[in-house]
Amino acid sequence: MTTENIARSPQIGGHTDGVLATEDDMLLIKQALPVELQFYRAIAAASDPQITALRPWIPRFLGTLTLQGEIDPDAPTSETNIPVKPLSESSSSRNDNKDEFGFSLVLENLTHPFSKPNILDIKLGTVLYDENAPPDKVARMIKTAETTTTLRTGMRLTAFQVYDNASGDPVLTPKTYGKSISAEQLPEGFERFFPVAGTQGLPAPLLLQILELLREDVQDIRDVLADIELRMIGASLLILYESDAARAEEGIKWMLRDPDEDEQESEDEDEDDEEEDGPPRPYDVRLIDFAHTRFTAGKGPDDGVLLGLDTILDQLDRRMAAVRSI
Ligand code: ADP
Ligand code: MN
Repeated sequence: MTTENIARSPQIGGHTDGVLATEDDMLLIKQALPVELQFYRAIAAASDPQITALRPWIPRFLGTLTLQGEIDPDAPTSETNIPVKPLSESSSSRNDNKDEFGFSLVLENLTHPFSKPNILDIKLGTVLYDENAPPDKVARMIKTAETTTTLRTGMRLTAFQVYDNASGDPVLTPKTYGKSISAEQLPEGFERFFPVAGTQGLPAPLLLQILELLREDVQDIRDVLADIELRMIGASLLILYESDAARAEEGIKWMLRDPDEDEQESEDEDEDDEEEDGPPRPYDVRLIDFAHTRFTAGKGPDDGVLLGLDTILDQLDRRMAAVRSI
């Protein structure tokens, strides 16, 4: 991999330019703290079925890259020590802190199977500060939790993008929106992210199919997390769905296909695009951002995160009811 293969990836939440994608768009390179690496490694190494049940719900973890910062053409390179370009021109404090961020995680890029992904980052939990955070940060984070939906509902709409059918471009709703709304306004937020027909949005029956499947997955994530003793501070639920209706429809058909028929097909047909690039995906939902997530044996599950997932399930139910009544 050369530096030219590294491009920007749509980044919905997040505070820095710390996330890059490879040019083929399949992998994502994220600057990381040791805590996040530990979490991905622990899940990769786990044999406990309660922990391995989390694997399908986080991005695939392929390994780490060592950052070299400035590119030195004379520097020796190897498979495990690949130069990458500086992650931000206007380097933030995060990028400057070379002791803290010496490496990056190589993760599955969840946007890759999509043509025009609508993407929503929802910050989970009622607690936004790490136990080691300095007192001023703790005070700030308590205030943020109290003045947003976080404390009451266990979640906050961090930010989202929704494609505009007319222009063909994604429209970003920034952090300020999710921070400004009350719990009572959450249905409006979900309506903005799951619009029906119009200039944005899928036809109602297709959107409903996606919402139903998505809801089952969120319920599964909730059930898995109810059996794991951890504290997830500042992690997100990332929801993606295809805004290109034809492709979303194709993706649903693929998901609900009969596997027996599929075997038949693969005997008849040559390798096609779907084999190379993977089938189209109608939607996806995963947990991301584990910079402050730790296993906490003996302390039980993270009730704030479970509350947030319950809120999301409730909002999905309301959205489905509203779409059905259209
Ligand atoms: P930060 O610590 O900057 O908040 P995140 O892990 O939350 O880092 O990533 C920031 C943003 O990057 C997310 O809101 C999401 O839009 C995007 N992102 C992160 N991980 C992935 C992934 N595996 N696939 C696709 N997009 C991702
Ligand atoms: Mn984040």
